[in-house]
Amino acid sequence: MSNENQRPFPFRPKRNAQVNKSILFAKSANLKLLDHKKTDNDIIFSFQNYKEERIEVSLQQVPNCSCPFKTKNPSKICMHIVFALLRYFDVDENSMLLHQLAYTNSEFNKLKNSLVEIRTNNDSLEQSWILSRKEKLPGKIPNCSGCKTKSIMPGDLHIYVKGKIVLKNNIQKDATFRFCPDSKCLKNIPTWSNLKPFTCAFVDLKGKISENDISKISSEGIKIQIKFV
Ligand SMILES: [Zn+2]
Ligand SMILES: [Zn+2]
Repeated sequence: MSNENQRPFPFRPKRNAQVNKSILFAKSANLKLLDHKKTDNDIIFSFQNYKEERIEVSLQQVPNCSCPFKTKNPSKICMHIVFALLRYFDVDENSMLLHQLAYTNSEFNKLKNSLVEIRTNNDSLEQSWILSRKEKLPGKIPNCSGCKTKSIMPGDLHIYVKGKIVLKNNIQKDATFRFCPDSKCLKNIPTWSNLKPFTCAFVDLKGKISENDISKISSEGIKIQIKFV
């Protein structure tokens, strides 16, 4: 019988010095993401460290890592696990998840749903705003990043842009920001992002967008460009 709140290892109320050290290391770690894979039961990240060694972090109810430290100390949390949690999920430095040896089912599901969109070769891509119909994607329904209230449902006409979320501790996470096709929402860019002001949107030509849609949105003062690729 599985219980949503059952934890395979006892809850750890407090953080110890070793976990603090892993957090400190993780924040300055130079790990290159080679690959990642998400299944129902786990999320696997393959990293390369500065010595060009491959390290595999497997996030599941009991997180694990292939590094020598975790292999020798199964009851400790290595910096690679902490790095993956801070960098790719909605987990901040104070989260109690960082010092647990195991998560409950509901904690793990919540974690999985907060996985950010990951680009392996990043930074050089220009920020292009795209007018598109929302695809059906797993995970929770996003809200508009401008008004923060309207849900963007599958099939909805919206404008999205890929950028980064900038956190307090200066860790950046890749993210897709979605907006209502409304100039008020597009002017209201989150301050905790690296987004540059909206200028114009390109039309996603695969996105089932009619000329009517385009003229309606243009008439509301949003500049639309059709780019053929
Ligand atoms: Zn490790
Ligand atoms: Zn909105």
